Parts: sequence; C-alpha cells; structure tokens
Amino acid sequence: MKNQSIPYKIYLNESQMPTAWYNLRADMKNKPAPLLNPGTMEPMTAQELSGVFCDELIRQELDNTTAYFPIPEAIRSFYKMYRPSPLVRAYCLEEKLGTPAKIYYKFEGNNTSGSHKLNSAIAQAYYAKEQGLKGVTTETGAGQWGTALSMACAYFGLDCKVYMVKVSYEQKPFRREVMRTYGASVTPSPSMETEVGRKILQEHPGTTGSLGCAISEAVEKAVSTPGYRYVLGSVLNQVLLHQSVIGLETKAALDQYGIQPDIIIGCAGGGSNLGGLIAPFMGQKLRGEADYRIIAVEPASCPSFTRGKYAYDFCDTGMVCPLAKMYTLGSGFIPAPNHAGGLRYHGMSSVLSQLYHDGLMEAVSVKQTEVFQAAEYFARVEGILPAPESAHAIKTAIDEAVKCRETGQEKTIVFGLTGTGYFDMVAYEKFHDGNMSDYIPTDEELQKSFDKLPRA
Ligand SMILES: *Cc1c(COP(=O)(O)O)cnc(C)c1O
Repeated sequence: MKNQSIPYKIYLNESQMPTAWYNLRADMKNKPAPLLNPGTMEPMTAQELSGVFCDELIRQELDNTTAYFPIPEAIRSFYKMYRPSPLVRAYCLEEKLGTPAKIYYKFEGNNTSGSHKLNSAIAQAYYAKEQGLKGVTTETGAGQWGTALSMACAYFGLDCKVYMVKVSYEQKPFRREVMRTYGASVTPSPSMETEVGRKILQEHPGTTGSLGCAISEAVEKAVSTPGYRYVLGSVLNQVLLHQSVIGLETKAALDQYGIQPDIIIGCAGGGSNLGGLIAPFMGQKLRGEADYRIIAVEPASCPSFTRGKYAYDFCDTGMVCPLAKMYTLGSGFIPAPNHAGGLRYHGMSSVLSQLYHDGLMEAVSVKQTEVFQAAEYFARVEGILPAPESAHAIKTAIDEAVKCRETGQEKTIVFGLTGTGYFDMVAYEKFHDGNMSDYIPTDEELQKSFDKLPRA
C-alpha cells in the first residue's frame, strides 16, 4: 500500500463550500459564439428569450464578463443537504492497476436523483419561483435530469412537466416513478400532446425518440402555457455556471493538501459536468497561471467532438430553438440506442466547443462494451456502481493510469464520477448477457446529417 497521508475521502466543511459560482466565460479571450435567432440570424436578445426562459437565467446565459455570481442563500441551504460531495482518492484502483499515478474522483451520485444534475436543477427552480411562475417544462433522456428537476420543483412548490425520451421511458420505468413521487408529470416523447411531437411521429413512425425531439416538445409546451417556462439540464452557459460548484469544491479540496492535478477527465454529453469540473482549472489555464491536460470522453456512437462539425446548428430536432455554434452531429442525428442515455445529445456546450476549437482541451471517444468493462471493474475495486455515462470517464482515467504504469510517470489524475447506475441495470444486464452492441455511425450517415445543417 502507498503511503496514505492523503485521506480516502477529502470532505470540505460546510463553511468552505463555494459562496459564488464561477463563470469561465469571463476569462475566455475567444468568447463562445452567441445564440442566433434562426429567423434573422442576429444574436438572440434577452427579450426574445424571455418567452422561453426565466429572466434571471437569461441574464446568466448572456453574461460573458461577470466572473462570479453569488449563490442565493436558499440554494446554498439546499446544497447543504447533499453537498459538499466527497473527493475520493482511488487507492484501491491504483493498487489494482499497479500504477504510480494518483487517481482522484469527485463523486456526484450521493443524492436521490443520483447525479450532478441536481446542482443546476435547484438553481433553475429557484429562479422560476422567484419570478412567480407556476411551473416549468423540460425534457429528459436517461431520466437523471427529470428526476433532479422534480426534486427541485417539489422543494419550491412548482409544477413540473417532463417529456421523457421514449426509449428511456420504456427502459427505465423506475426513473419515471421517482419523478412522479416528487409530483412531476411524465410523458413519453415524441408524444401526440404537441404539434412538433405529432409531426415527428408522422415522419418517423416507431421512433424511439431523442433528446432533440423531447426538447422541441417541452419548449412548445412552455411557450404555449401561461405561467410556464422551459428549463434545460445541460449544454447552456447557465448550466455550466451552476455546475462550477463541482470544480470549485474539487479545487478547494485539492488545495488543502497542496495537490496539483496533471490530467482532468470527464464524460461529455452536453458538457455540463465537464464544464463545471474544469471551470476553475481552465480559468487558471486561460490566465496563464497553471497548465492541465483536460480530456472530454464521449461515446463512439454519438461523437460530437471527435467527428462532429463546428457550426451553427439547432439545439433540437423540431428546429424551434435558437441556433448555437457548437460541435454537432446535426440536429436530425438520432444515435443508436446506446445505454449511456445522458450522452446521446447531438451537440455540445458552446463554451466547451470554443475551448476545444482553441486547442485548450482534448477529446476521445470510447466504445460501449469497453465502457461497461471499465464500469464493472470499477464497481468491484472501488465499490461504487457507476452510471454508464460516468463510466466513460472511468475508462479513460484507467487508460491514462495504465500509460503511467508503462512509462513510470507519477501523474495526478482527477475525474468526474457523475452518478450511480442503480437505474441502469437493464444496460448492465445486456452487457452481462453479451447482448450489447457497439454501433458506430458511418461517415456516410454523419454526412447525411451534416448536409442538413442550417446555413449561417
Ligand atoms: C446527464 C448526465 C451526464 C452528461 O451530461 P453533461 O451535461 O455532459 O454533464 C453524465 N453523467 C450523468 C450521470 C448524467 O446524468
């Protein structure tokens, strides 16, 4: 065993918890490209967005210069129910791998919703309540966001309407029941409830849905129902801002022991956990104070960074949302039914897209079966049964630790363990039974989708 002068779990005191979120955009020289109105091709104004989003969240979305946003007291109180989350030194994993690397993971699965998404859900519900709204609508893929938002809405007494991607609705009935336990209504998407849902069903009968479709339905419902706004669990600048709580806590915990990471790794669906985890570290890198290798890990079945185009695209399949400049596979791209539901989005945060474009971070894609091998290995060695999404980061962290073994380098690796996999046992079952496929889209399939990108 290595000298264990660093504890297995580094916890912060409540008093050391962040009092403000950090807005990485403030330190970016090349700011992320603005959202565009698809009609005029001009940047979206706060006023144009106000029918869709809550006012304070729009302010956060459009602000590229304010570095710190104070966290309101009501949100900090809620955070204290499940935060600070532990930063764990993976001593057992290091020993099993026989690596000189030092591995840490920030575990965000210690709340009922089971993932980091609650960090932004509670903020978004708070601002909706402050504005005097009746409720919010949203989409959910794997179900983690819907679950998190239901919890947050229940806390503030808001109505919550969730459009759940049909494949997940069917594969994950227990997620649906958790949402209903917290008082949300859950509709499988595409549905007959909205115009856009009916249109998608007509064009693609039997479709298992996608996040892009569900977003279109939720937005339509919000703008057509008085007293409602739409909220989104990833991709947007405001979500990355709220998720900076992950990175700020991680950095505070490491700083206590004078630890400087070399490599920071996170899975990337829409980019919110990764954007949050890396925020303060990337801030240092942008200001020239420190350097880190930062790696985004995505599924080979939905490879936005590694095979996507950096272009303006719709955020949803129904093309009702503004255009965002991002690494995208095209808003019409519907990935193979991969089990990491939270990583099936066609696009990527504009902030991370700009950073990746500027060469400030790297990206890799990994195949589903190797991800589940890593997940099972991790569960047996470290005890935590990971979400399939999180296991993408585990896979790459293990790969990097093995490289350290081969080269004898004592690197410090930090990765985001975004959630637990208790509701993903159908996926684990497929893996154990050898029924898991590794479908990777062909260049032709991607090109067909790129051909439909809007001209901006
Ligand atoms: C949603 C989700 C992700 C991916 O979303 P990001 O916005 O890219 O962070 C990753 N892990 C878990 C457990 C999730 O629920």
